[in-house]
Amino acid sequence: MAISTPTAIDQAYRAAFPRSAELYEQARGLMPAGVNHDVRQLHPFPIYIDRASDSRKWDVDGHEVIDFAVGHGALILGHGHPTILAAIHAQADKVTHAAAPTEQEIRWAELVTRLVPCAERVRFVLSGTEATMLAMRLARAYSGHSTVVRVQNHFHGWHDYAMVQWLPPYEAHASAGVPDALDSTMRAVPMDDLGALERALAPGDVAAVILEPDGPVVGTVPMDPVWLQGVRELTERHGVLLIFDEVVTGFRLTPGGAQQYFGVTPDLATFAKAIAGGVPGAAVAGRADVMDRIGFRGDPAYDRHQRVVHMGTYSAHPMAAAAGTAALTLLADGTAQDRAAALADRLRDGVNAALADTGVSGCAYGLRSCFRVIVGDAGDLPDTTDRVEFLATVPVERLLIGTRGPIKSALHKAFFLEGIDILAGNHGWTSAVHTDEQIDVSVAAFGRAIARVVKDGLLRPRS
Ligand code: PLP
Repeated sequence: MAISTPTAIDQAYRAAFPRSAELYEQARGLMPAGVNHDVRQLHPFPIYIDRASDSRKWDVDGHEVIDFAVGHGALILGHGHPTILAAIHAQADKVTHAAAPTEQEIRWAELVTRLVPCAERVRFVLSGTEATMLAMRLARAYSGHSTVVRVQNHFHGWHDYAMVQWLPPYEAHASAGVPDALDSTMRAVPMDDLGALERALAPGDVAAVILEPDGPVVGTVPMDPVWLQGVRELTERHGVLLIFDEVVTGFRLTPGGAQQYFGVTPDLATFAKAIAGGVPGAAVAGRADVMDRIGFRGDPAYDRHQRVVHMGTYSAHPMAAAAGTAALTLLADGTAQDRAAALADRLRDGVNAALADTGVSGCAYGLRSCFRVIVGDAGDLPDTTDRVEFLATVPVERLLIGTRGPIKSALHKAFFLEGIDILAGNHGWTSAVHTDEQIDVSVAAFGRAIARVVKDGLLRPRS
């Protein structure tokens, strides 16, 4: 096997982050792949974080990093918001796990039902994955049908159903270990194709349509709001429930999430991330007649055969309820979301200007405070950094690939070397506590990171 010479980025990375390298050596033998989330992998080792505050975090080698990974999108109010921390501390002093309902979960539920248009009822769970799993079960129980229609490439967590027909080739499960028996329970359609959706609904065996209302995986491919409206109309016409997966968009795009932003109300919606203020917590919310399937009726036959079972040791965990109540109170008037979105606009504009300056093909885009960046060799991507023109020109399949693997990995390391973290090197979020100055510093860092990758010969700019 040929031994490749380490690039300058790799050499600098090893030199700058020795403690992370050391910790990864310890982790590798203890945990598969050395990490606990597929997206946290980075070759030859990931950066270990020691502490964080507002929009910054510090790694174990003492470097300060401007953070755009913000808790995988959970921290729209930044790290360690004083009000959220105070709520967590106060709750920890009282009870960390009551094994019983708490008043705090009622306050949390009041906020969710007040802010989210579809939320007549809410049920708290632990993670976004649990939320989409429960939403599908509710829809199947309510409708009596087992098929859930999904949209190709839209992400709904990592449970078995979510791994069926997710990524190309769609006939192959996205993970090993998923039973073939589930194949008949999921049906995938392409985004922006109402004809395909109509055909998928035609057999009359569909429990629900589930989708990410801002497009697949943090808006990799921007979604057409006209399509979203069309999906609502079609599902209504066919009497099929519509589920918005608002794990990312919930409370982030606006206080009422994507459904408020686009003015399209689903029957059910799933939430995680921002809903719990950075503590593990999530929810399904929606129409009372559907959600109430979880409720007991005291009729033994109904309760045994028609009711939806949901438990979970950590459901409505008091710490999540306390942090979530504090966070949603702060997010209720929309000011924080507008501030974060304005910062993301500044970041996108700055990154696109930096790409134009360096002659590297690519584009920063995204909705509100969510952003994506794609870069590629000259000729691989169009020669424009105008967002609208770029997105209209690049085929959907190319957008879905994003920045190609070796460039993405080098860029991610170069970002750390330049003092910024962009999740997986290709997407992230602004929070309300980033500053204009930090955005400018980050744009300059982005330009230098790109220059490093070009210098290493991994990225070919336009001549
Ligand atoms: N749905 C969407 C749209 C997501 O982005 C995610 C996670 O990023 C999930 C579901 C899964 O959520 P969790 O990671 O909390 O299980």
